[in-house]
Amino acid sequence: MGVLVMINRPSADAAAHRPGAPDFEEADPASPQLSVLDLAATRGDGVFETIAVGDGYPQALDHHLRRFASSASILDLPSPDLAVWRRAILEVVDKLGPLPEATVKAVMSRGIEGDGRPTGWVHGQQSPDHTRARTEGIAVVTLDRGLRHDVERTSPWLLAGAKTLSYAVNRAAIREAVRRGADDVIFISSDGFVLEGPTSSLVVQRGDTLLTPGIELGILDGTTLGSVFDFAAEEGLRTGYAMLTAEQLGEMDSLWLVSSGRHAAPVHTLDGVPRPFDSELNLRMNAFLSRRQE
Ligand code: PLP
Repeated sequence: MGVLVMINRPSADAAAHRPGAPDFEEADPASPQLSVLDLAATRGDGVFETIAVGDGYPQALDHHLRRFASSASILDLPSPDLAVWRRAILEVVDKLGPLPEATVKAVMSRGIEGDGRPTGWVHGQQSPDHTRARTEGIAVVTLDRGLRHDVERTSPWLLAGAKTLSYAVNRAAIREAVRRGADDVIFISSDGFVLEGPTSSLVVQRGDTLLTPGIELGILDGTTLGSVFDFAAEEGLRTGYAMLTAEQLGEMDSLWLVSSGRHAAPVHTLDGVPRPFDSELNLRMNAFLSRRQE
């Protein structure tokens, strides 16, 4: 069931604060906490972050909080009071106790329709075991996302680049991958450029360089990716951003899908074709990601 904290002061905006209530308070995750009128439930209208916790330390917390605020801004939601959210996340981490790996999810919805007050909560629980994906790798298929690479600029109302609660499409893409005998997906723009996974960022290795598509392609600013680039600096590898086509993926030395909970999952098969990956580098990358204490 994990640990749940409901946020009474999701935004610094006074109208968002439940009068007389503490900034946040622990609640029973086994009991109903959300109104059926909440826009989280009725429209998936809100934003979230999933933060990895390793040995009691929330990883890349500053980056997650920055992205949380950025997503809220893209959705024209009230700006989250990051000091309150940080304290609530740390409290949940603390209450989870000494687990080797956990994840904490922070959610802010537009609240009950017409109320004008966002709903917020933070829930933490033990992570599933990702050892197999991290060590043996995953099979991935490329799928057309159906949007051009410049969608963020041409159609900002599509909310590209925001981590919204509307993940039904992302889950549908993963089910399609499973139907095709794979584990995960790399989305391709309708005009042929490589983007990201439904719940992960893409990192490719070409020689002594790690590359990733840039966020101007309407993809998320990955926090794990940021840590992978820190790892690259430690390894003496170069890093950069690239617009890659699906065909070019086949020419890379290694591919990974990286994300907060699973860390780095090397790709052992792409669209049914087996691929190599640098397993030593992969082990060091995952060790680095597991060790992070900030
Ligand atoms: N891209 C998408 C669409 C995601 O949903 C996620 C994480 O859930 C990521 C990228 C990776 O982000 P992070 O490394 O911060 O978990």
